Amino acid sequence: MPATISLEQEKNPWLAAETRFDNAARKLNLDDGMRKVLKSPAREITVSIPVQLDDGRLEVFTGYRVQHSIARGPGKGGIRYAPDVSLDEVRALASWMTWKCAVVNIPFGGAKGGVICDPKLMSNGELERLTRRYTAGIIEMIGPERDIPAPDMNTDDRVMAWIMDTYAMHVGHATTAVVTGKPMELGGSRGRKEATGRGCMIVTLEALKRFGLKPEETKVVIQGFGNVGGMAARLMAKRGFRIISIVEYNGAVYNANGLDIEALMRHRNETGTILGFAGGEDIDRREAMFLRCDVLVPAATENVITSENAAKLNCTILCEGANGPTTAIADEILADKGIFVIPDILANAGGVTVSYFEWVQDRQGFFWNEDLVNSRLEEIMVGSFDAVASYGSNHKVDNRTAAYMVALDRVASAMRLRGLYA
Ligand code: GLU
Repeated sequence: MPATISLEQEKNPWLAAETRFDNAARKLNLDDGMRKVLKSPAREITVSIPVQLDDGRLEVFTGYRVQHSIARGPGKGGIRYAPDVSLDEVRALASWMTWKCAVVNIPFGGAKGGVICDPKLMSNGELERLTRRYTAGIIEMIGPERDIPAPDMNTDDRVMAWIMDTYAMHVGHATTAVVTGKPMELGGSRGRKEATGRGCMIVTLEALKRFGLKPEETKVVIQGFGNVGGMAARLMAKRGFRIISIVEYNGAVYNANGLDIEALMRHRNETGTILGFAGGEDIDRREAMFLRCDVLVPAATENVITSENAAKLNCTILCEGANGPTTAIADEILADKGIFVIPDILANAGGVTVSYFEWVQDRQGFFWNEDLVNSRLEEIMVGSFDAVASYGSNHKVDNRTAAYMVALDRVASAMRLRGLYA
């Protein structure tokens, strides 16, 4: 592969997604026609979102919603707000949702949305107007039977409440099942906020068994301290894991004996940063990623493990809490180093799994207690981990390829059974 393509691929998540797809499709012997169908996003929309800013100016933002596949059920996937959102990124994330829902075998296709904006620079009122106008722009695409958004980077339960309300005003009745990750008072599910982090912990516990490690003797480094990284850190610490470092965009904190995560959260909430924490020392963020540890959890954003740094990783298990944290070229380096990778489409599937539970509960109008949510989540995560790991050893492929093969096979079967409407 020419070097220029490789480098471009490490920046563009859609190219990275295609590489993994092609690899699995080849191993599955999928025919060319099926490959083309599975690869192409089913529907994409770009909307202009005019918003009146607080100072009276009118600004126009750009938003996207991509439904990659609706073969196995309605589209499902989050909406992210960030300055660097692009259509290719949203496409890649939508396709990962297709494979993620298929790996854990929940009856959804894959979708994703994004708006180019910097939520840190926007007021609450501006964010609400942006969200409502974006929702109006994509309203024909979404719905409990069509496509169900959820939180992703920089969106939360409050944003989901605005989407739900805007949709409800258009259709003329409350429709809780149009989004997941909502506030509890509006039909949200118990355990949804913790679900992605909890799922990461569950699959890590399964991986530890293969290495004969107990949580108490397991050193963990987590990159990201948001909804995924923060919850994973909190739940893993409670379970006895030793979280030796948390890495954020502006630096890292380290404590060889394990950080007190609850105290670190309080410190971050009070000061706005993890740095300067009395229970640890500040270290360079690059150094932290390469610390000797048993488990590394990248839980921030795409393309952080690349051809440039993969060789320096010093972990036994890589649990991908973020979507697409590892580039396709870095995959080969990790394989050479013998790192046990729990791929994103499996490792972070806990969030969408509890989203599925939320959608089921909304449609039934009957809500489960937290123990039931958590035990059903555990059943699905453990079952999916085992299915992927044994597929990998039976077919002599790495975990990521195994996860893609399981997923592609399920979506391809659904498409064959449906046949082609012409
Ligand atoms: N944004 C999350 C993800 O990437 C959750 C999606 C959902 O719950 O629909 O998996």
